[in-house]
Amino acid sequence: DTLINQIAAGEVVERPASVVKELVENALDAGAKRIDIDLEDGGIRLIRIRDDGGGIAPEELPLAVSRHATSKIASIDDLEAVATLGFRGEALPSVASVSRFRLVSRRPDADHGAELRIEGGRHGEVVPQAHPPGTTVEVRDLFFNVPARRKFLRAERTELGHIEDWLRTLALARPDVEIRVSHNGKPSRRWKGEGNLLSEVRLHEALGEEFVRNALRVDHAGAGMRLHGWIAQPAYNRASADQQYLYVNGRSVRDRNVAHAVRQAYSDVLFHGRHPAYVLFLELDPRGVDVNVHPAKHEVRFRESRLVHDFVYRTLHAALADTRA
Ligand code: ADP
Ligand code: MG
Repeated sequence: DTLINQIAAGEVVERPASVVKELVENALDAGAKRIDIDLEDGGIRLIRIRDDGGGIAPEELPLAVSRHATSKIASIDDLEAVATLGFRGEALPSVASVSRFRLVSRRPDADHGAELRIEGGRHGEVVPQAHPPGTTVEVRDLFFNVPARRKFLRAERTELGHIEDWLRTLALARPDVEIRVSHNGKPSRRWKGEGNLLSEVRLHEALGEEFVRNALRVDHAGAGMRLHGWIAQPAYNRASADQQYLYVNGRSVRDRNVAHAVRQAYSDVLFHGRHPAYVLFLELDPRGVDVNVHPAKHEVRFRESRLVHDFVYRTLHAALADTRA
C-alpha cells in the first residue's frame, strides 16, 4: 500500500503548506478551538500540529492512517452534502507515506492517550502515551524517501510564506479558533480566538488597515443563498489578485464562475477594470455544491452555476450601486 499512498501523496501533498492545510482541517473537523503549530525549516524539517479537539481512540489510530478510512462520511448520500472539510480519507496515509510521522491522541473521556509512529509508510505498534485531550500530528523530514519530490521544495522562506498564506486564508474563515504558530523555536504568529463573527481586528491583521478603511460590507440573502463579507472600493489602491478570498460553505475555494460574477459587478458599477480585493462567504445548501472535484479540494462544482453567478452578481451590483447613489 505504501506505493499507492505515495502516489496519492503526489496529489494531496505538494509541499509543507499542503500538509499544514490537511492537518489543520482535520483539527477543525475534530472541533478544535485552539491549534498550535510548530515548524522548523519552513516545515520541511518539522510540522507539528496540536489541537484540543475530540481526539482518536487508541484502537482507531491504525484506521485513521489507512487509505480511504474516514470517520466523516458513512454513505454515498453523505457525499452529496459534505459538511466537514475532510471526507476522502487520504491525507493522513498520504502524509505518513512520505515522512517520519507520529500521531498521538487522547479522547477527552480517556485517562491516557496513545501513539502510533509510521516511517515512510511502515507502521509501528500503538503504544500508550501521555497527552492532553486532543491530537498531535508530527511530520518530520517531508519527502525524505521521495528525493524526486524533495528536490522541488523551495527555500525555507518560500515554504514558510506558503504556510502563512494558507493560515491567513483559514484565519479569515474561523475567527472562533485560536491559532499559534512558531518557527524554528520562536513564536511567529498568533491569531487570537474572537468568537464567531469575523471582526475588523482579524480583517485588519489579514488584509491591512487600508483594506478595512475602504471595504464595503455586504450581507444579502436570497434564492436559497447568502453572500456576506467585504469588497474593496476603488479608493483601495493595491494590486489585489492575491487578496481575493472566497469561501463556499466555509471552505476556501478558487472558482472562476464566482470570481467572474464579482469582477463583472465591480466593473459594471464602477467602470473599473482592476481586480477588486474581497473576502466573501457564500453559503448555500450543501447539496447544491460538489466538493469532491479534486483531491486537494481547492475547487467545487455548483449544481446550478448560472443561478449562483446571478445571485453573486446581483448582490454585489446592488451593494456597490448604493454607494454611488
Ligand atoms: P478525512 O479528513 O478525509 O476523513 P484524513 O486522512 O485526513 O481523512 O483523516 C483520517 C481520519 O482520522 C479522520 O476521518 C478522523 O477520523 C481522524 N483524524 C485525523 N486527524 C484528526 C484530529 N486532529 N482529531 C481527531 N481525529 C482526527
Ligand atoms: Mg482530512
